Amino acid sequence: MDSISSPQAEMLLDEEPQGGPTFLDRLFDHGLLIRTGVDGLYGRSGAFESVVEALDRLISRLGAADGAEVMRFPPGMSRPAFERSGYLKGFPNLAGTIHSFCGDGAGHAEILACVEEGRDWTDQQEATDVVLTPAACYPLYPVAAARGALPAEGRLFDLQSYCFRREPSLEPTRMQLFRMREYVRMGSPEQVLAFRESWLERGTAMMRDLGLPLAIDVANDPFFGRAGRMLANNQRAQGLKFELNVPVNSVEKPTACLSFNYHQDHFGSTWELRQADGSVAHTACVGFGLERITLALLKHHGLDLAAWPEAVRDALWG
Ligand code: ATP
Ligand code: ZN
Ligand code: MG
Repeated sequence: MDSISSPQAEMLLDEEPQGGPTFLDRLFDHGLLIRTGVDGLYGRSGAFESVVEALDRLISRLGAADGAEVMRFPPGMSRPAFERSGYLKGFPNLAGTIHSFCGDGAGHAEILACVEEGRDWTDQQEATDVVLTPAACYPLYPVAAARGALPAEGRLFDLQSYCFRREPSLEPTRMQLFRMREYVRMGSPEQVLAFRESWLERGTAMMRDLGLPLAIDVANDPFFGRAGRMLANNQRAQGLKFELNVPVNSVEKPTACLSFNYHQDHFGSTWELRQADGSVAHTACVGFGLERITLALLKHHGLDLAAWPEAVRDALWG
């Protein structure tokens, strides 16, 4: 699938007036997002959550006929599993680890003294066996592999998790903690590619029904460093990742709201996940950024949910 460009994209985005309040300011002013003092770390209002929940249900309805197995993991995952997954090869800069105090009374006194004097107290913290989940599908692969070889029809999972990425930003669409809904398919290359193709269509139809201008584009993950450049180029050249982009912060740099990823046998080899015939399993996932889609709706239809177009309200709450 090549690029579907959308000529109306340019017309439907109200650019922020120079020097006026930004989209993020307006979201704070309307109480839709709540400041915490940290860029990319926000509270959400009831209205914001009502959209997230409606999207979550809509995505469930779109996938209902496929009978995906639902699993929900907490936003932290096993550190050994995370290390084995290879995430640190590609994205060391985005990873978040959980550290805790494991010391004694003297260590405790030292922490309190540090806090009191404004010195760094985190020297006392030690890495635990928990890291923050970087994408909803990461905790799934070891669990799926532990079940043994896939059945002939493969497997399909339905996931949702808060995810952490250390990418603080003033763009409201780039949060450090956000929710990702995913469907993950495991099986033969044909099975997982057919899955990805069907979600490219369904995702596009869903976003059109929500009244959002969009374009599907080939994409790459932001692999770290110089070696990462090559990985990113390969990923693009092989068409392994597509994004569904909606102009939110700007028309020139639209925002990826959905992504469609073919991992080939990367996770299958990493986790020794096999197909029924013994060959290494292939995997693909479709990811929905629940806050990003919500923000796209707020940008295009306005900050007052009650005033959204009837068709959009119907699609969400009808
Ligand atoms: P981008 O290129 O914008 O960084 P991505 O390629 O990192 O996006 P994926 O890794 O494919 O995104 O994640 C799946 C989905 O999760 C994205 O399509 C997006 O909707 C959402 N997402 C990713 N990063 C963030 C973030 N920092 N804040 C909010 N949502 C995000
Ligand atoms: Zn995934
Ligand atoms: Mg990213």
